[in-house]
Amino acid sequence: MNPGLIFFVILAALIGFDSALAKPSADLLIFNAHIVTMDAKHMTARATVIRGNHVVWVGDTAEAQKRFPETRAIDLHGATVLPGIIDAHTHLIELGKSLVRLNLKDIATAQEAVERVKQRISSAAPNEWILGWGWDEGKWASHYPDNQALSDVSPNNPVYLVGLHTFAAWANKRALQLAGITKDTKDPPNGRILRNEETGEPTGVLLNHAQDLVETQIPPMTLEQTKQALEVAAQECVRYGLTSVHEAKVSPIMVDAFHELIRENRLPLRVYAMLDGADPALVSQWLQHGPEIDPNHQLTIRAFKLFADGALGSRGAALLEPYSDSPQSKGTFTTSEPEVYNLTRKSLQRGFQVCTHAIGDAANRMVLDAYAHALSDVPQAHDPRLRMEHAQVLSPEDILRFAKLGIIPSMQPVHATSDMGWAEQRLGPQRVKGAYAWRSLLQTGVHLPLSSDFPGETSNPFYGIYAAITRQDPQGNPSGGWYPEQRLTLEEALRGYTVEAYAEFEEQAKGSIEPGKLADFIVISQDITSLPAKEILAIRVLKTFVGGNLVYDADANKLQPQIPSRCFNSRPLSGPLRCMRVNRKAWTHTLRFSYRGTIQTKSH
Ligand SMILES: [Zn+2]
Repeated sequence: MNPGLIFFVILAALIGFDSALAKPSADLLIFNAHIVTMDAKHMTARATVIRGNHVVWVGDTAEAQKRFPETRAIDLHGATVLPGIIDAHTHLIELGKSLVRLNLKDIATAQEAVERVKQRISSAAPNEWILGWGWDEGKWASHYPDNQALSDVSPNNPVYLVGLHTFAAWANKRALQLAGITKDTKDPPNGRILRNEETGEPTGVLLNHAQDLVETQIPPMTLEQTKQALEVAAQECVRYGLTSVHEAKVSPIMVDAFHELIRENRLPLRVYAMLDGADPALVSQWLQHGPEIDPNHQLTIRAFKLFADGALGSRGAALLEPYSDSPQSKGTFTTSEPEVYNLTRKSLQRGFQVCTHAIGDAANRMVLDAYAHALSDVPQAHDPRLRMEHAQVLSPEDILRFAKLGIIPSMQPVHATSDMGWAEQRLGPQRVKGAYAWRSLLQTGVHLPLSSDFPGETSNPFYGIYAAITRQDPQGNPSGGWYPEQRLTLEEALRGYTVEAYAEFEEQAKGSIEPGKLADFIVISQDITSLPAKEILAIRVLKTFVGGNLVYDADANKLQPQIPSRCFNSRPLSGPLRCMRVNRKAWTHTLRFSYRGTIQTKSH
């Protein structure tokens, strides 16, 4: 075919000429919008046209209406549109677990918790564990309950309720029995089994590491439970405007769950999976299999996640020099340099990316060394894009190495503002300058994907954007920002949540609103480009589209009656992601009564 004809065929396929002479057809026209395209060539537009899963046209309203007169149209009355948010480091499974377990966050008394367990028992299977979380161990500490009432309502099903900050848990007698905890059981190191003062019998409250005694008895989640947790977490994400997540640490059962959810049309967003690099069987299976790159961009598996060290708060991050507030300690490596090197070399040979958690400056240097070594040993590796998850504390000379080696620092703005109260105590006034140093890194020319690391931090990306541009907490402290020279501009922060799809090899397919890209975009409540920073926190997502399909609609959410155990379809839309939105209150209610896979959440 000659080049002109090829061009015409591609154009016709994209714009969707039904025949060569007909007017172009399309599925959806968005007009009267303030579209922040994130396409460097045309940063704003008023209208966009979608056909199938893709954007086919971007321009102004009058021309759009002239060119696509037959197309179903949505008038946004000036509302702001952004590309769908990509959160480059998430834990959907943990978010999902917290959402499907009995939520005790809003209860005031032990009696209320017991009531909730009682309701939950009515739909539980025999011997099923009843898991909950969120009672306030701080408030209850002056008078912890015993487990008599809990055991009365649930004599046969083990019950295990973790406190809000996970320092304490409350278990019934059946759970203690399964864990072998009796009056003769000694307190484990760093843990305490609370006991009745007169009888010496355990009361059911377990502090710190004493919780491990029960937790090791809880059966792992079934495939059905894993699917439910991932699904409910994904629904939470689209409410916040996330259209893609990079899931950090994916287990074999999660791979199966993602595959089934997609087959059953129950996954409303796109997932880039980092396989658990600490699971040798999983690693060798996937190295043999090779990457799984989804032509529909819904689930791509082409990365391994490793952990080089722990966290800064608990002094587990590996530092080059001792902690400033603990001169005995330099933290700990959790994976050795040869291990990082070996997996990286094999990954480069097989076309996988490696994403390594590194917090301390010693961990970051070790991983940079291991990556550099592997890159030089596999010079034929095509486009490796190795990643450093967090890249939190960097020695000044290592900052330059990221750009030089093509390594991507994958960073979390909210970590800085959550940690700023104590980070300098751990690091001292000199070292802290290389901590959460987004701008120092960006200036060297690296790609800088941004993320939340939820559920440790909020999954609301507007908190991340706010933290990135202010380096302040939500109350505006400290005034002027914490080490404000590291602040990003709004555009840089938005790039980190959109066009840095580069970090998952998807920059050609998503991250901006332009012809040929996937129609992943969100409608938000205010114009982010003209707001004072603090008001960014109040932005709400009104609609979320993934591949041109409406997967979340705040209006419909408001109007729908709260009927448990069904998925509310906001409107019949075609395509693979139909009806994913669920009334959240109803959903929580439903899950409370049927945790074991009895809920039908498929579209209808
Ligand atoms: Zn993480």
